[in-house]
Amino acid sequence: MRLVVVGAAGRMGRMLVKAVHEAPGCVLAAAVERPGSAMLGQDAGLLAGLPANKVTVTDDAASAFAAADAVLDFTTPDSTVAFAALAAQAGIAHIVGTTGLEPRHLAALEAAASRTAIIRSGNMSLGVNLLAALVRKVSATLGTDWDIEIVEMHHRMKVDAPSGTAVLLGEAAAQGRAVDLAEKRVAVRDGHTGAREPGTIGFATLRGGTVVGDHKVVFASMGERLELSHIAEDRSLFAQGAVKAALWSKGRAPGLYSMADVLGLDAL
Ligand code: NAD
Repeated sequence: MRLVVVGAAGRMGRMLVKAVHEAPGCVLAAAVERPGSAMLGQDAGLLAGLPANKVTVTDDAASAFAAADAVLDFTTPDSTVAFAALAAQAGIAHIVGTTGLEPRHLAALEAAASRTAIIRSGNMSLGVNLLAALVRKVSATLGTDWDIEIVEMHHRMKVDAPSGTAVLLGEAAAQGRAVDLAEKRVAVRDGHTGAREPGTIGFATLRGGTVVGDHKVVFASMGERLELSHIAEDRSLFAQGAVKAALWSKGRAPGLYSMADVLGLDAL
C-alpha cells in the first residue's frame, strides 16, 4: 500500500514514517509538511531516524495524494479538514489521528466521508480502545449515583485539552448512559463551583514533562470507587495503529469509521 504521511516532521509524523517503513506491504509514497516549514526538501527517512529513503518532504499534498492509496494525518484540525477534501478528491482513504476537532471540523469530515473512507480516532492504540469499550459497559451498568471523572496527563508541548483520548473515553461513558457528552461534560473547574451536579462527566487535565499519555476513568460512589486506567509508554503504538487502520481501509466503502471498527471491538 502506498501511504502518504502529512505533518511528516512532527512528533507523530516521524513515528508514522518509521511505522510505514517497518510495516510489511507498505511503502512511503510521500511526506508532506506545511508550506514554509524549515523541513521542506529534507529526506523523510533521515528525519525519522532511519537510513535515507529518498522521499523528500514536500508541501504539494495534491500531487502526493494523486499517487497514493491512503494518507496518515496527525496534524492540526484546520489542516485535517483541508486534507479530507483533498483525499476525497483523490479517492484515497484518510486516517485521522488529529485531536482537538470542533463540531465544524467534524461536520467537514462527515461530508468528505460520503466520498471516501475516513478512519478517525482520538487514540489509535488497542489498549485505549479496549478501555473505551470497558468504560461504556461499566457506565451502562452503574447508575448515575456513580460520578464519572476522567483524569489525563500529557507532555508539556501538547496544545489541546482535554486530550482526544479523554474525550473518546468521555464519549464512551456518555454512550453507556445514553446521554449526550456535549450536555454533560464539565471540562474546567475553578473558583466557587458549587457542589458537583449529578450525572455530569468531569475532566481534569495535567500537563508536564515528556508524558506520552496517561488516562484514568474514575467511577465514584458513596463509600467506594472503581478506577480504570491506561498508560501509553511509547507513541510508536499510535503510529502502528494508524498503519493498521490504513491496511484495513483497503477496499472499504466510503464512510466514517473508528478504531473500534478496525480492531473489531464494537461487539464488546
Ligand atoms: P506536532 O506539532 O509535533 O506535529 C504536527 C505536524 O503537523 C508539524 O510538523 C506541523 O508542521 C505539521 N502541519 C501542520 N499543519 C500542516 C499542514 N497544513 N500541512 C502539512 N503539515 C502540517 O504534533 P504531534 O505531537 O505530532 O501531534 C499531532 C496531532 O496528533 C495532535 O492533534 C495530537 O493530539 C494528535 N495525536 C493523536 C494520537 C492518536 O492516537 N490519535 C496520538 C498522539 C498524538
